[in-house]
Amino acid sequence: MAEILLYIEYDENKILDASYDLITGIKKNNEGANVSGVIVLHPDFILTDEIKNNLKKFGLDKLYVLKSEKPFFEKTEEPFLISGLIKNINPEIFILLSSTTGREIAPTIASILDTGLTADCTKIEIENIEGKLKLISTRPTFGGKLMASIICKKNPQMATVRVGTFKKEEFNNENLEIVEFNFPSFLNLKSEIIEYKKNEKNEFVNFQNAKMVFAGGLGLKNKENFEKLKLLCEKTGAVMGATRKAVDKGLVSKKYQIGQTGASTTPEIYVAFGISGAIHHIMGMENSKKVIAINLDKNAPIFKYADIGYIEDAAKVLDELLDSLN
Ligand SMILES: Cc1cc2nc3c(=O)[nH]c(=O)nc-3n(C[C@H](O)[C@H](O)[C@H](O)COP(=O)(O)OP(=O)(O)OC[C@H]3O[C@@H](n4cnc5c(N)ncnc54)[C@H](O)[C@@H]3O)c2cc1C
Repeated sequence: MAEILLYIEYDENKILDASYDLITGIKKNNEGANVSGVIVLHPDFILTDEIKNNLKKFGLDKLYVLKSEKPFFEKTEEPFLISGLIKNINPEIFILLSSTTGREIAPTIASILDTGLTADCTKIEIENIEGKLKLISTRPTFGGKLMASIICKKNPQMATVRVGTFKKEEFNNENLEIVEFNFPSFLNLKSEIIEYKKNEKNEFVNFQNAKMVFAGGLGLKNKENFEKLKLLCEKTGAVMGATRKAVDKGLVSKKYQIGQTGASTTPEIYVAFGISGAIHHIMGMENSKKVIAINLDKNAPIFKYADIGYIEDAAKVLDELLDSLN
């Protein structure tokens, strides 16, 4: 049976919601196909029964588990491990999230397998033509002015998909087959980690599971205001985001950037403080449920995407919100 392989991502000991979303999105539209996942396990990750049940519940048929007894460099070694698996199982399609990891490893995998990759897709369609699967990947082009639908002539046909393209749903899946590989049994890794120290200070910004995102743009003007925005996030449990201009001006670290060349997020509430609403930024947050925008310019494009808009000084609103929490 035709096989579609998905890359399953996790953070700490939790599968990302975005991975569950991807599983349901692909399974729902391709009920005849086998939807498999590949997960690369570091030694500290435990594949619990709860995780297996969730993967099954949201539509996964088979899980390839690549297990390591030793820690390894994921960005440099995962592509070789996954390509090794793909050469063995020959899926027709391989899809990853357009997350930081997905964006980093997908091009290397495509290059090792000598196949094509469509990055950052906002729509995925799979046609079944006489038992053969054809992936049609759609993504914005020319700065978001046009949508291009791209097909790949070689297998596996590869794509990375924007977070928020699909939503997880419970699926009536009966079985989840688990196939385990221990590496480096089938592959000679090029490097070895002698000592492994966990970074206690988590540098990863978890946009994918964020319920609220408070993002700042150049309208916040200085670092001090970004520190205040950070404090507001800490007090309310929101995740901080930023525009590329704010990052480029050195007001905030690059890890907070949302947009075409940053992260994607789909929170319940997205608050834009002093953000103009350029298409490159919108591409990273347009699937947010409720958008609240604060901007001095009543003609700022962000208001076209906002459910609630305030024509106000963003720094003043920030101060008032912080005061109200004291
Ligand atoms: C290939 C490419 C990729 C890109 N990728 C990204 C990306 O991933 N993410 C991203 O964000 N951008 C990206 N950009 C840049 C993007 O096009 C915009 O330049 C950027 O998003 C604008 O950031 P901004 O809204 O902070 O700044 P500006 O566009 O300068 O807007 C500042 C806004 O603040 C308002 N303002 C000013 N003072 C105040 C105040 N006191 N109170 C309230 N509002 C105020 C202004 O009215 C204005 O609307 C990319 C660009 C290119 C070409």
